[in-house]
Amino acid sequence: MKIDFSTASFKDFENIPDLDAFKRADYFQTYLDFLKQNGHLNYRILSTTGCGPEMELLVNGKRRKCICLVSNDYLGFTQHPAIKEALIQAISQFGSGAGASPAIGGHFIYHQQLEDRIAHFYKKEDAILYTTGYTANSATLQCLLKKEDIAILDMEVHASVMEGCQLTNVKRFLHNDMDMLEMVLKNAKDHYRTKLVVVDGVYSQNGDIAKLDRITELAHHYGAYLLVDDAHGTGVVGDTGGGVMEKYDLYGKVDIVTGTFSKALGHIGGYVVADKELINFLKFQARQHLFSTTATPATMGILKALDLIDEEPFWREKLWGNIDRLKAGLLSLGLNIGETESAIIPVKIGDIARTLEAGKLLLEAGIYTNPIMYPAVAKKDSRIRLNIMATHTAEQIDKVISAFEVVNDKLALSGPKPL
Ligand code: PMP
Repeated sequence: MKIDFSTASFKDFENIPDLDAFKRADYFQTYLDFLKQNGHLNYRILSTTGCGPEMELLVNGKRRKCICLVSNDYLGFTQHPAIKEALIQAISQFGSGAGASPAIGGHFIYHQQLEDRIAHFYKKEDAILYTTGYTANSATLQCLLKKEDIAILDMEVHASVMEGCQLTNVKRFLHNDMDMLEMVLKNAKDHYRTKLVVVDGVYSQNGDIAKLDRITELAHHYGAYLLVDDAHGTGVVGDTGGGVMEKYDLYGKVDIVTGTFSKALGHIGGYVVADKELINFLKFQARQHLFSTTATPATMGILKALDLIDEEPFWREKLWGNIDRLKAGLLSLGLNIGETESAIIPVKIGDIARTLEAGKLLLEAGIYTNPIMYPAVAKKDSRIRLNIMATHTAEQIDKVISAFEVVNDKLALSGPKPL
């Protein structure tokens, strides 16, 4: 399908027409071409160095060093020598892969140790591992909730939660709106076999935190269970990095916690912790666990990362110092950073065009950020998302703030949408 780029606008691409799959792909290709032609294709940028606060990128065929605010490696653990060493040793001892799914020969001592350890971290009886945080949510929900049940979701839960709820009834409440949650719970009454409230601990696009004390109270008062995805809270939030469970002291009150090893713990993989019976049920019923090969021996690196959360609290202290410095700088420019309480800082802009332009100008200034827009957030809620790390230096943060000052002067980022 041909689109006239000279007159095309972002509006032309908001809804992909109802065509067959290959023609939909053709149409989408025109969108990618449109973005590229405008210098806005800031996704899947190739990085030639490891994950870190500064990376070398390949932009328009040229290598350039950029300050990076795109990584969930909040504590810098992907590059921690002790974690790398643990991982190398595990691979030397156990080899490169697990060779089978867990029920039929792919359950090894390193999996068991990690399950025990992550269950202990959340003060729960047992844990199950998945190969990603995404499947920890989607597979668990798909396994637990069917057409007789209901999932009650905050509007801003992660995409993996939505995916897991395709076989069940879904009601959504406005983000962190406790009156609406109560109304939904009241209306659900006894109409469903299982009622499960699902929230994120830290929200991945806003960086704000669920009102978990009230959510727990409401869920249990109305006979619902509660699942919390603490992907972005683990290792970051709470006095000792115990995540939102620690912040609210809700150990034992939340029925199911899910999370990922891919963020503060610097690796890959997902987990669910809960009572022993529920975990055993998942181990033999969750299809993506049962029929999929387990994580590699490199998971031993995660055990080391969990040690370091306790043994090296200075990474978390450094991270929070960096969060405060960046927030103060952005606020001094009059930018709207919402209500973040974590290492995710959104600079809220609104429209897609200015957001993409801001991302482009920042990249030109050597600052790599993520422009976030629909469908990750609502259409009028586009923003530049910044992920800050413990390993950013004060000088790097100040450069980021200066770059935002220049871009803000050009685009009035927090001003009204241009006509
Ligand atoms: N939950 C949340 C809240 C997330 O932000 C993400 C990843 N962005 C996931 C789950 C999925 O985790 P993973 O990347 O390990 O699949």
